[in-house]
Amino acid sequence: MSTTIDIATTATDRPPELDDRALFGHPRGLGLLFITEMWERFSYYGMRAILVLYLVDRLKWDTARATNLYGTYTMLVYLTPVIGGYLADRIIGTRRSLVIGSIVISLGHFTLAMPGMTAFYAGLTLIIIGTGFFKSNASTMVGQIYRDDDARRDAGFTVFYMGINLGGFLGPLVCGGLAQSQRFGWHWGFAAAGVGMLLGLVGYLWGRDKYLPGIGVRPTRPSSTVLPDDTRTRAARGPDGNSLVHGGIGAVVGAVIGWLLGSGNIQAVLMGIVVGAALGVALLGTRGEERKRVIALCIVVFFVIFFWAAYEQAGSSMNLFADKNTNLQAGSFSIPSSWFQSVNSFEILIFAPMFAALWTSLGRRHWEPSTALKMVLGLALLGGGFVFMVIGGAHVDRGVLVSPFWLVAAYTFHTWGELCLSPVGLSYVTKIAPVKFASLLMGVWFLANAVADKIAGALAGFTPTPGEVHAGATSGIAAFLQSVSGTYHGFYTIFLVASFGAAAVMLLFVPLLKRLTASVKA
Ligand code: GLN
Repeated sequence: MSTTIDIATTATDRPPELDDRALFGHPRGLGLLFITEMWERFSYYGMRAILVLYLVDRLKWDTARATNLYGTYTMLVYLTPVIGGYLADRIIGTRRSLVIGSIVISLGHFTLAMPGMTAFYAGLTLIIIGTGFFKSNASTMVGQIYRDDDARRDAGFTVFYMGINLGGFLGPLVCGGLAQSQRFGWHWGFAAAGVGMLLGLVGYLWGRDKYLPGIGVRPTRPSSTVLPDDTRTRAARGPDGNSLVHGGIGAVVGAVIGWLLGSGNIQAVLMGIVVGAALGVALLGTRGEERKRVIALCIVVFFVIFFWAAYEQAGSSMNLFADKNTNLQAGSFSIPSSWFQSVNSFEILIFAPMFAALWTSLGRRHWEPSTALKMVLGLALLGGGFVFMVIGGAHVDRGVLVSPFWLVAAYTFHTWGELCLSPVGLSYVTKIAPVKFASLLMGVWFLANAVADKIAGALAGFTPTPGEVHAGATSGIAAFLQSVSGTYHGFYTIFLVASFGAAAVMLLFVPLLKRLTASVKA
């Protein structure tokens, strides 16, 4: 996501359409982006809901292989938006990016709908590339609708987050419902995701000239855009032009750390290079207060990785928990297990306005917690969700199918945790990132998702699976995880301990984070 300013929002001949207030006080362009993003997320979450189930139930992959592929897929889906954001900022503009992304994503889903493993891998690859062009640029365009000083911007993002989750709610219901029905089947589910993305594309093409005139037509170049005040223009140029050297140093350090942490795994080394390069540029290219804030962001991002690595069990191990260990019979109706993937998004729609109101009312009394403290709370709530998975898991260990209550309760706590961490995290990044590195550091925020999702997939591979033999590791973390995850309650205890542990340790860092970000209100 970029906070650089598009020509359309700064030019004196700003189209009047962008200042309209027809949509509950917001421009109708926001509505168009809401719908487009809603359909993209419909396709993403619809397909995500059935991916692991398709691999395990239909293709008969073993759990670890399926969740590891899921981890790699979700990692790459959050890695490419960093590149797509960069390309849009500098070369093609967000408007074209969104169209390219939509076309490639829907092609990906339709390819998945075809039989054969070549089509399967090609489909996943297309979705990964398409999401790179789409995801962060859709958010950037929301920012581009408003003038720089427009107080409606935050509210605009909240509305947009609702669009994300309306799609996230409907996608699993439709795609999962089709995929797991007797009548249709898996490939119908994948195709439905493609149809959803196409509808989004058609809607965007229909409305963009009318409601988003000039938005994202040209790339926004931080170093050449005329920003409203001198300081920002100077800041945009940066203290020196050594980004390449800084990135190179960071990449080498990141590669070594990735190598050590991943015991030589090539994906870990690649990840280390990307994260290291980004942090190298940001840390070595700043000084004084700005560098302190970048350090604060690094600390926060480290803890956020713990959050998403546990949260992302949703699409993998918790999805399988719904499929294999939950009683899905409601009278004569058998609930498709993929429908549990809609719970989180549905609850976001319900609770997001309540959380927003809570922060505002606490703010009025000067009691609003700092962002770092909200994140600690988010991690603790996530841990709270896993309490239900541990208890539900203990019932499963006794050989019974459990009530859907356990999953729903866990997802509810996870939703509350997400609301304390995810939307506030986005605005934290825009507040503390030095202007010239705003896009880069937003990219780092997404990279935390990428790293975490890979770890999540690997951890989900330890799901207890009767009848499957895990390759016996004799030492190291893998052996430890294998020894504790012989039972469901043992497996979910890993996430409970990790979430509460991360919350406790992050709490100790709150005073330091406050000092590091003292130059802004965060
Ligand atoms: N649900 C949100 C989205 O899809 C955030 C998910 C995330 O950051 N992992 O955009």
